[in-house]
Amino acid sequence: MSIAENIALVKERISMAARRAGRNPDEITLMAVTKTFPADLICEAYAGGIRVFGENRVQEFATKADAVRDLAEAEWHMIGHLQSNKAGKAAELFDAVDSVDSLRLAQRLDIPATRLRKTVKVLLEVNIVGEQSKSGLEPGSPELEQILRAALQLTGLKICGLMTVPPYSEDPEHARSYFRRLRELRERLAAQNFPSITLETLSMGMSHDFEIAIEEGCSWVRVGTAIFGKRQKV
Ligand SMILES: *Cc1c(COP(=O)(O)O)cnc(C)c1O
Repeated sequence: MSIAENIALVKERISMAARRAGRNPDEITLMAVTKTFPADLICEAYAGGIRVFGENRVQEFATKADAVRDLAEAEWHMIGHLQSNKAGKAAELFDAVDSVDSLRLAQRLDIPATRLRKTVKVLLEVNIVGEQSKSGLEPGSPELEQILRAALQLTGLKICGLMTVPPYSEDPEHARSYFRRLRELRERLAAQNFPSITLETLSMGMSHDFEIAIEEGCSWVRVGTAIFGKRQKV
């Protein structure tokens, strides 16, 4: 199967899941997760119609950035854990950081973004299970609200929504309650009307569970394996 064929198949599955849930498939954006894959495969996915790409390491994307610079309509998202000492480089390379998990990181991103006269789009990563081992803001944590309240001062950032990675399970149905919790959290936070924030984006669902995430209201799915095949362990 070619990458273009895989993309077509994933899009078909997105449409079917959306219709099952009574949703318009156009509400759902397919992000291709390209970590560990070389620039030529990114170009192939672009040729196959993908416009939103996710990478999980700043250093890794830095090595590919030159080779993909000509993909004029592409939007580059950092989706992996970001250390604040790499915030400057991330603000330079990426259009969006979907894994902001502290006020400090938001502030560290805002400074270079403002200096570069860029608006970096941001999602807040939520640790929906509350597991110590996982990164992300806890759903009830004061820091989550602090970031939303600080948004007016963070002029280089635009906070667009929430992202989560539920614990892996063989059975994708297990992810459903986590996806639902993220949607409910979004609704609770949106109801608080933080100034200049709408939280319209919910990024949830990966190759093995994106259909469930669509049924539970996601707006972006992040798909690697189902498009590019299995990754080598790194
Ligand atoms: C790798 C990764 C994905 C894609 O996972 P697949 O199972 O290959 O689709 C999605 N989101 C994040 C945060 C990732 O790190």
